[in-house]
Amino acid sequence: MNPKEIAQHVLLEHGISGLPFGVGDLSRALGITAKLTKPFEIQEWGGGIAHLMNNEPYIFVDPSYCIEYQKFTAAHEIGHILLGHLGSWTDANGTQYANRKCNEAEANAFAEELTMPECVLMSCGITTVRQIKKLCRILPEDSKQVVERVRQRLKSGDPFTPTEQQLVRQFADYIQQHTKKSVCRKERAACATNS
Ligand SMILES: [Zn+2]
Repeated sequence: MNPKEIAQHVLLEHGISGLPFGVGDLSRALGITAKLTKPFEIQEWGGGIAHLMNNEPYIFVDPSYCIEYQKFTAAHEIGHILLGHLGSWTDANGTQYANRKCNEAEANAFAEELTMPECVLMSCGITTVRQIKKLCRILPEDSKQVVERVRQRLKSGDPFTPTEQQLVRQFADYIQQHTKKSVCRKERAACATNS
């Protein structure tokens, strides 16, 4: 599985069906201890770090950043652990994650799909960084690439994968409640004309 697919499986397995969700709660459910503090003197801190200590996974996030930044950073650090960047690891449900070379782009791809699943955004008609900020509470610099991919997929008519179809079903109520207003207005206009 690639980072994006691993994120989709985490969302499915943990029954996440709305955005934004508590990344700290998800971290705990995965058996990863999440702490809002700088753990030790690190030069390149950047607001977050993942650590495997005696085979116990930890993520540390700097609480002085805004909530939006903290959320994406926490998702990125969870990505490092689940993608095996710190070594092979087994989560609380017994799912095994093989060791792979540390890769920042992979951790970002995981965090993007975890906090802004493309199929959910597309189903809600979300296509701008502003809409994502409002819906998912994610900063524009962290959602830019997601927006590009969503627009490309909408243009190409690229169908959802079977896993994405499962996710859309899991988020069905949320999608219904958060689909862009313009559609509802059109529907209301149609209803008004019919009555
Ligand atoms: Zn990183």
